Amino acid sequence: MPLIFCPDCGTSVSDKAEKCPNCSYPIKQLVKADLNIEVIRKSSSMIWTGYVMAFLSLLFFPIFFMLFGIVFGIVNITKNEVGHGVAQIILSLIFGISGTFLGLLV
Ligand SMILES: [Zn+2]
Repeated sequence: MPLIFCPDCGTSVSDKAEKCPNCSYPIKQLVKADLNIEVIRKSSSMIWTGYVMAFLSLLFFPIFFMLFGIVFGIVNITKNEVGHGVAQIILSLIFGISGTFLGLLV
């Protein structure tokens, strides 16, 4: 089982421990908060990837990135990020279609 360091006194403690054996710091709460931050970080990186895909479709390979943008939008919707997901799908469509037209003009 993984060991973490107590933020209060620096003793190595099991992440399953209720509290630090040395100073009684509530380790369990700390681990939970860390996990929540991790989940938020992961989903926000998915959100950014979706927007990046949408913007890229304006510049390169519009159809390719438009499809990626739509896929990321759908994934974000399934992860309860409905607002971002819908925005990514719409942006991907707009940028993908304008990207295609720009490609035809150039
Ligand atoms: Zn401690």
